[in-house]
Amino acid sequence: MPSLTAIPWLEGIFSGEMNKRLVLVALGAALVFLAASAALMLWLLSKQSRILQLLLAASAVALLAALFVGVSSLVLLLLWNRPWPFLERIAAWAVGFLYPVAQKLCQLGGIGSDSLAQSFIAVNNRLVKLKAEPSEPGKLLLLLPHCLQWSQCPHKLNLDAVGCKRCGRCQLGELLALVENYGVRVAFATGGTLARQAVAQLKPSCVVAVACERDLLSGIMETSPLPVYGILNDRPQGPCHNTQVDLAKIEEALQLFLKGR
Ligand code: SF4
Repeated sequence: MPSLTAIPWLEGIFSGEMNKRLVLVALGAALVFLAASAALMLWLLSKQSRILQLLLAASAVALLAALFVGVSSLVLLLLWNRPWPFLERIAAWAVGFLYPVAQKLCQLGGIGSDSLAQSFIAVNNRLVKLKAEPSEPGKLLLLLPHCLQWSQCPHKLNLDAVGCKRCGRCQLGELLALVENYGVRVAFATGGTLARQAVAQLKPSCVVAVACERDLLSGIMETSPLPVYGILNDRPQGPCHNTQVDLAKIEEALQLFLKGR
C-alpha cells in the first residue's frame, strides 16, 4: 500500500520535519467532543421551555458550524499550499478556541502537551512559509530566549544582547554575528512577558522566535496575525539551562523572510 506522503495533494499536510497530523486530528476530536457535549446538554434540557431549547440549539449549531469551517479552512490551506488571509483568520480563531480542549483530550489519551505543541508549531511554520513576503531586514526580529546564555556567564546582557564578549562558551556570539550579517533586529528576552513587550515596542513585520514548546505556542497564538516562525531550542541540560539552537535553521528562517517564499 503506498504511503500517504506519496499522494501529491496530501503532501502539504504530511510532509515536513515535524508531524503536522497530530494537531489536525486533535482539533477534529475536540470539535466532535464539543458537538457531543452540546447534544447531551440539549437532551438534558429537553424538558425545559421550547423557546429556550430552540435558542440553545441554534447557538450551539452556529458555534459548531463556525468551528467546523475554521478547522476545514486550516486543512484547505495546507492542501492548497497557498496563502488566503480570510481562511487564515477563521482558522486562527477556531484553533484558539479548540486548542485547550484538544490539549485535554490528548492528555487523556496519554499524548504529552509538548507533542501537540510541536505539531501546532509545524503547522504554523508551514502557513508562515506560504505567505512569507520579502521583508526589509530592519522589520525582521530575531527573538531569543535568555536560557541560550551560558549560565556561568558573568556578563549582564540587555535586550539587544549588547554586553556579550563572544567568548564562544555559548552560541550567543554566533547568533549576534548572524544578526549583524543580515542586518536584522534582535531581542534577547528573559521571559514571555518581555518577549511580548519587545514585539510591541519594535513592531516588526515578521519574527523568527526561538523558545521551548510552551513559550512558542503562547507567543504564536498571542501575536496572531503577525507571522512568527517558531524554532524549538535544544535542552541537553534540561529546561531553561544552557539551551542551544540549530543555527542553520535560524539562518534558513531569516532568509525565508528576507527573500520571500
Ligand atoms: S558568548 Fe557571550 S553570552 Fe555566551 S558566555 Fe560568552 S560572553 Fe557570555
